[in-house]
Amino acid sequence: MATIGFIGLGNMGLPMAINLVKAGHDVLGYDTSPEVLEDAKEARIITCATAVDTASEAETLITMLPNGEILLAVMEEVIPVAPKGALLIDCSTVDVESAKTFHSQAGSAGLGSIDCPVSDGITGAAAGTLTFMIGGAEDNCKRAEPILDIIGGRQVRCGGGGAGQAAKICNNMLLATTMIGVGEAFALGKKLGLEPQALYDVMSTSSGSCWSINTYCPVEGVGPQSPADNDFKPGFASSLMIKDASLAQVAADASGQATPMGYRALELYKEFAAQSDEDLDFSGIITWLEQLDRG
Ligand code: NAD
Repeated sequence: MATIGFIGLGNMGLPMAINLVKAGHDVLGYDTSPEVLEDAKEARIITCATAVDTASEAETLITMLPNGEILLAVMEEVIPVAPKGALLIDCSTVDVESAKTFHSQAGSAGLGSIDCPVSDGITGAAAGTLTFMIGGAEDNCKRAEPILDIIGGRQVRCGGGGAGQAAKICNNMLLATTMIGVGEAFALGKKLGLEPQALYDVMSTSSGSCWSINTYCPVEGVGPQSPADNDFKPGFASSLMIKDASLAQVAADASGQATPMGYRALELYKEFAAQSDEDLDFSGIITWLEQLDRG
C-alpha cells in the first residue's frame, strides 16, 4: 500500500482522504485549520504540522485547495521536498493558467503531475463516486488511475496540462446558463397558468431537455429528488457556481473568446446571491427569477 499525502482536508478533501484510509493506504494529511486537523486525526489520517512534512514522505501527493493562488503557494513549499519521481494530483478547481504553472513547476523538478478537478460535490466525495476531468501526460494519468479509482467513479482524460480545468469550467459555464434557462421557462409557464408537472413532462422529453431539468429539476415535487425538495440546501452552493463561472470568464478573457451567455449568467448569479443567500443551492436562482418583473 502506498503512502499518500493529502493537503486541504475541507468539505471535499476530508471524505476523499477517508476513502483512501479505508482502502488501506497510509494517508499523511495537512490543513491550515486546526479544527479540520482534529477531524482528520479522528478519521485515522496521520496529521502533519506542515505541508512540507506531508509531502516529503509521500509517493503521491493530492491537493484539494480553495484556489490557484493557494495551490501555487503550497506547491512552492512542497515541490522542493517531494521524493524523486513523486506524482502530484491536484483535484482543486483553479484557473487554467495556475494549472499550467503547476504542471511546469512539477515538470522542472522531475515530478509527475495531473490536474484533476472533480464534479459531484460533497456527496460524491463521501460516496467515492466523483467524476474526474484530467489533464496531463498519459503516463502520469495511468499512474494516478488506481488511486482515483478509490476516490471516484469515472475518469475522463481531457488532454495535456490544464485540460481538466478547462473542461470543468466549460461544463460549469454551460450548467450556469441551462439552469437559468430552465428557471425562466418554469417561471413563465407559471405566469401562463401551466402546471409545473405538465411543463416538466413536456420539457424533459422534448428538445429543451437537459441535465438541469431531467436530473436536477429546480421545482419542488417535480422530477427526481433535488435541492428544490429540500429548501434549496446545497448540493452545489451558488458561491461555488459563481467561482466556476468567474474562472470561465477569466479564461474567456485570456483566450479572446466571447461567451455572452456565460458572462450574463455570472452577472445573474451574483445578483441572486447578493439578494438572497450565496449558501443556497445554485438551482435556487429560480425563486429569484420568479419574482423579477419584466419592467
Ligand atoms: P473547503 O473550503 O471546505 O476546503 C478547503 C480546505 O483547504 C480548507 O479546509 C482550508 O482550511 C484548507 N486550506 C486553505 N489554505 C490552505 C493551505 N495553504 N494549506 C493547507 N490547507 C489549506 O472547500 P471544498 O468545498 O472542500 O472545495 C475544495 C476545492 O474543491 C475547491 O477548489 C472547490 O472549488 C472544489 N470543488 C468543491 C465542490 C463542493 O461541492 N464543495 C465541488 C467540486 C469542486
